Amino acid sequence: METVDQPKNSYHQCLSGGGKMGELTRSFDWSSTVLGSPENWSQSLLTTISIILNSRFPMFLWWGPELIQFYNDAYRPSLGNEGKHPGALGQRGEECWPEIWPVIKPLIDQVMAGGESTWSEDQLIPIYRNGNLENVYWTFSYSRVNDEYGKPGGVLVICNETTKQINSFHELELAKDELEFAITSAELGTWDLNPATGKFIGNERLKSWFGLPPESNIELSRAIAVIAEQDRERVSKAIEAAIAIENGGGYDIEYTIINPLDPMPRHVRAKGKAMFNEKNEVFRFSGVMLDVTEQKNDEMRKNDFIGMVSHELKTPLTSLTGYIQMLMIKTRKIEDDFMSPALVKMNAQIRRMTGLINGFLNISRLESGKIQINKQSFCLNELIQQIIEEAEMTTSGHEITFECPSSLTLFADRDKIAAVISNLLNNAIKYSPKGRKIDIKCREEDEKLHFSIRDEGMGIKPHDLQRLFDRFYRIETKHTENISGFGIGLYLSAEIIAHHKGRIWVESQSGVGSTFFFDLPLA
Ligand code: ADP
Repeated sequence: METVDQPKNSYHQCLSGGGKMGELTRSFDWSSTVLGSPENWSQSLLTTISIILNSRFPMFLWWGPELIQFYNDAYRPSLGNEGKHPGALGQRGEECWPEIWPVIKPLIDQVMAGGESTWSEDQLIPIYRNGNLENVYWTFSYSRVNDEYGKPGGVLVICNETTKQINSFHELELAKDELEFAITSAELGTWDLNPATGKFIGNERLKSWFGLPPESNIELSRAIAVIAEQDRERVSKAIEAAIAIENGGGYDIEYTIINPLDPMPRHVRAKGKAMFNEKNEVFRFSGVMLDVTEQKNDEMRKNDFIGMVSHELKTPLTSLTGYIQMLMIKTRKIEDDFMSPALVKMNAQIRRMTGLINGFLNISRLESGKIQINKQSFCLNELIQQIIEEAEMTTSGHEITFECPSSLTLFADRDKIAAVISNLLNNAIKYSPKGRKIDIKCREEDEKLHFSIRDEGMGIKPHDLQRLFDRFYRIETKHTENISGFGIGLYLSAEIIAHHKGRIWVESQSGVGSTFFFDLPLA
């Protein structure tokens, strides 16, 4: 009959596997501890060790009255480098954990005495590892393991180190505090819209600007209702555009709030970004809001001032023009060689000055929303001819050609279109050397007027091209420093063309020349 050496087999099987900690456990000299050699260990201890060594979950065991220690590969990283590992294996608990023994010993005793298993979540237990006493967080449970007589044999610790999560959480909290501090210091309003419910969350400041109740979730329509009537549709459209994925999710808009609880209108700038899920559906839309009332009021005061000054300057200029024209008629009769050309030059300079002042007047009207487009039918060919003649009075030396069908009639604001063409021509003259050609071309195609003016001047570098039509934008180079200008001509031109529902753009090559284009609907 075959006999089976039960204890020996069990001891080999139970201590098999278990990776690095398995090897260390097998090679450890257990006879030097109170547990003695593994052949004599109880089945209960061997089974528990087998579970621990083969588990991928971090586990640790204290066994016997001296609380001798075992742990697995998954637990090992929590002991760090240059710390308790590998000394902790087979060590007495009290010797291994002097720094936390007063905290954990009562838990061990409670469990060993038959008390309930413990459960602690994200508990701070500083341990010595990596050459330092480190703050380590754990979620763990202590449970009792009985020996084969049903008596408490040891305490099994199943745990998870949560230091990384807790540190990330603390960092997140810190970043949130810093962000809140920045929002408070910058006096920003914040908002967060849930497009699915049509409700948004706003900070206290934003709610007070809109005169909204303290509730956390507010209907978007309640905020829209407080927006000034003339801005309401524009804001709704901007929100719709931002939540459409093809527009990239950006939102940047200025508008006025007229809150019934606050008599002063408030000008705000809202900037935000919509967020989309993997199905390209918008799920959030959030951003900040800045009160720009002071800035707007300053701008308005500045515009009013520019408007007032330009208006006042026009009166003496108109009277000067009148006197010069009278003098021109009189000098024709006396045929004075000096007086006549001098008066022509004076007249041209006054026209130039009138042009500049009109530019400022237009800019102030435009910025305060008072620009008016007075359309009439006129012959474009005649207008261009007149503009070229005027330009040639002040400067000469460029060869200006133009092609424009005499049948081309435009229904537009004659003075403003004249200002655009005159500005483009003056720029072509200003920014190209004398003797070079300037070609103006107009044609009618697809019910549109296509206008172009080409020069052989200094040209424009690609990075300046996008900003050329911005207010007060001038290219600062050695070539341009002695050319006078305020950087408003192209800005005004673009606005005038936009008010006519047209398009203006430029193509240019540095050192070769530029061509400015615009088109206007003819209908
Ligand atoms: P201003 O000429 O009064 O400075 P504009 O708004 O008319 O203002 O033009 C803005 C800038 O664009 C100019 O300062 C100049 O640097 C550049 N620019 C305009 N037209 C031309 C051109 N034809 N060739 C080269 N640069 C030009």
